[in-house]
Amino acid sequence: MSKRAYNFCAGPAALPEAVLLRAQAELLDWHGKGLSVMEMSHRSDEYVAIAEKAEQDLRDLLAIPSNYKVLFLQGGASQQFAQIPLNLLPEGGVADYVDTGIWSRKSLEEARRFGNVNLAASGKVCNYFDIPAQSEWQLTKGAAYLHYASNETIGGVQFDWVPESAEVPLVVDMSSDILSRPIDVSRYGLIYAGAQKNIGPSGLVVVIVREDLIGHARAACPTMLDYKVAAEHASMYNTPATFSWYLSGLIFEWVKEQGGVAEMERRNRAKQELLYRFIDGSDFYSNPVAPAARSWMNIPFRLADEKLDKAFLAGAEERGLLNLKGHRSVGGMRASIYNAVGLDAVQALVTYMAEFEKERG
Ligand code: PMP
Repeated sequence: MSKRAYNFCAGPAALPEAVLLRAQAELLDWHGKGLSVMEMSHRSDEYVAIAEKAEQDLRDLLAIPSNYKVLFLQGGASQQFAQIPLNLLPEGGVADYVDTGIWSRKSLEEARRFGNVNLAASGKVCNYFDIPAQSEWQLTKGAAYLHYASNETIGGVQFDWVPESAEVPLVVDMSSDILSRPIDVSRYGLIYAGAQKNIGPSGLVVVIVREDLIGHARAACPTMLDYKVAAEHASMYNTPATFSWYLSGLIFEWVKEQGGVAEMERRNRAKQELLYRFIDGSDFYSNPVAPAARSWMNIPFRLADEKLDKAFLAGAEERGLLNLKGHRSVGGMRASIYNAVGLDAVQALVTYMAEFEKERG
């Protein structure tokens, strides 16, 4: 039996054990070449094949149409907060942003450095425990794009619908729910996701962008931040994050072997159902998010008495249930249950939560 702990970290998050074992087996001598992936030139035939296969597998998994480019960039999702307006927001233009929590707010604050941002809607009115209905959004006619975050990793608030944006390109931060269920890529102008949750290790951000949105960067846009430069050089204008890209490719293969994103959706549905049902059935634990807006990936919860938080976390750690402490900005607990966290982990968590409630509640 594996000695590995159950890891509920929000990111960098748990990776599938099978993938780590494969990376370990290939570490010293990749496919008989006598060197590791970390030591290869990114221009070598071997590495280019690794990179191309990763892209193709991601294309297969999400059924990405051929008029979209897939870019493997650096700087994390946070760099996209600036890169998006630099490429898509012309001087004097307006971009619409929807604020549903800490990450979407960070993205809109960064965009304000580059031009006019219209706050189309904000979850502030409901303490960020729900997503404002689209009928209440104040959208700008002719906006350069409409930005939102499909899953707020800290608040545990997730869209289970895709906003309507008509001819305005829809831009989405999918950092914490990409690959967790099927999506229709053609609904979006641009999708971006920091890797360190469902994609792979940190050091990489994946950008899926419709071709007609490439090539409009501002004159002042740094070369390294121009999507056109990245696309023309197959994300190798400079040295990419080669090992992160390789490991992400192994994750894509793993997701495919498991049955793709449809199977991830089936598993993730069962996992979140188990945890929310347990929380809702208890007077000791609570989650404040409106049921239709509850995240399948990040589940924040509170104990009835926060003085017990420390004891709860210590007991969890003793049982090998790690990283359950909520984000420092909100407190409480948070269980992040990405693709690599199995139903067995959620079962172990629920068993512990029930025991703790019985003893201390
Ligand atoms: N967006 C979301 C939804 C996130 O969860 C995070 C990281 N937790 C970020 C953006 C920032 O990602 P990075 O650290 O890769 O810049």
